[in-house]
Amino acid sequence: MTAAAARAIAPEAALTADERTRILAKSALFDPPTPQLADGRRDLVGLSRDELVAEMAAINEAPFRARQLWHWIYHQGATDFAAMSTIARPTQAKLAERFVVGRPEAAVVQTSTDDTRKFLFRFRDGQEAETVYIPDPVADRGAVCLSSQVGCTLSCRFCHTGTQRLTRNLGAAEIVGQFMAARDSYGEWPSPKGETPRLLSTVVLMGMGEPLYNYANVAKAMTIVMDNEGIGLSRRRITLSTSGVVPMMDRAGAELGVNLAVSLHAVRDDLRNELVPLNRKYPIAELIAACRRYPGASNARRITFEYVMLKGVNDSVAEARELVRLIAGIPAKVNLIPFNPWPGSVYETSTAAAIARFAAVVMDAGFSSPVRTPRGRDILAACGQLRTEAGRIGA
Ligand code: SAH
Ligand code: SF4
Repeated sequence: MTAAAARAIAPEAALTADERTRILAKSALFDPPTPQLADGRRDLVGLSRDELVAEMAAINEAPFRARQLWHWIYHQGATDFAAMSTIARPTQAKLAERFVVGRPEAAVVQTSTDDTRKFLFRFRDGQEAETVYIPDPVADRGAVCLSSQVGCTLSCRFCHTGTQRLTRNLGAAEIVGQFMAARDSYGEWPSPKGETPRLLSTVVLMGMGEPLYNYANVAKAMTIVMDNEGIGLSRRRITLSTSGVVPMMDRAGAELGVNLAVSLHAVRDDLRNELVPLNRKYPIAELIAACRRYPGASNARRITFEYVMLKGVNDSVAEARELVRLIAGIPAKVNLIPFNPWPGSVYETSTAAAIARFAAVVMDAGFSSPVRTPRGRDILAACGQLRTEAGRIGA
């Protein structure tokens, strides 16, 4: 069916489909380089299961070889073919001639006084992105905050990443690689099975970049992370945060079914246009409608609305009331994030009293409204503080 014919049948659906095609095409312009070393060896990390089977077929290895590799790479965390003891030595050697099991290089690792750990990862072309591990203060578990892009095309006024132009998307290998390298740092291999406690227990796509502007790579990476024969993280333990790329929200919900977090930050279009410029394209009403139809949202799986608390800008009681009116009926919680300053930022954090007043209104309306404790501020690892200097492509 042509796009025009589709539009004649269902104008709104076709428009969204057109828009999605346009977003995916634009995103492809920022694709990462092929995950290959200068000597021609290819990285096996980041390949889908089917692609891994195809790579094996190309060197006359049966599909079960791909399955063995999957287990060694994602369950055991092996990076050396020689350690893969279920694979015969000559085959190990054959694999090592053609492939590697890569990791991004941890160029800088900093640990905060509150134990938050920030990694600056450097990829093969010299580009860099930050990843943060935020341990739970009481239990042996924690969240890994992954980056999806080097920089960001959106320029939210309160966000440090937003001051760095988009250099390129991260590939699936680089996104999964951040998680695996963080795991290396805590020695958490082999992957704990099922609901066994894990230190790196949740993934939040809340680092640098807009994950829904790099949907193909993010989706591939999350499919790998969720695979039961490998890392095996349940979709309930993955949260994707978006500034509101409405046409891609439906797709993410249907295909990945991960938890959704939406960076709302304002309840009026004039203010949101200023704070989150993407609002000019997808205004609040459209964003909220997309949340209402997000698949799988229920009381057990609520949508998180993120709301950065900016002193005198968006933190009044009237705005809290408008917020609960906007989201009425959505299974949701509201995460209040005290603004984290960064060098050159123009905003101030709301006072504790203003945050408490705002939270009370939201709570009285029946929504849980936790205030996010800033973590890792001393090492610029808190929400919205991440930024790297763009490296030279091909360096
Ligand atoms: N691009 C995505 C995900 C990354 S940002 C998004 O915008 O949702 C993760 C969260 O941190 C978002 O809610 C973002 O709005 C918020 N954030 C950005 N800068 C911040 C800052 N300086 N202080 C507190 N939160 C911030
Ligand atoms: Fe990009 Fe999210 Fe920062 Fe906005 S808040 S500039 S979308 S990373």
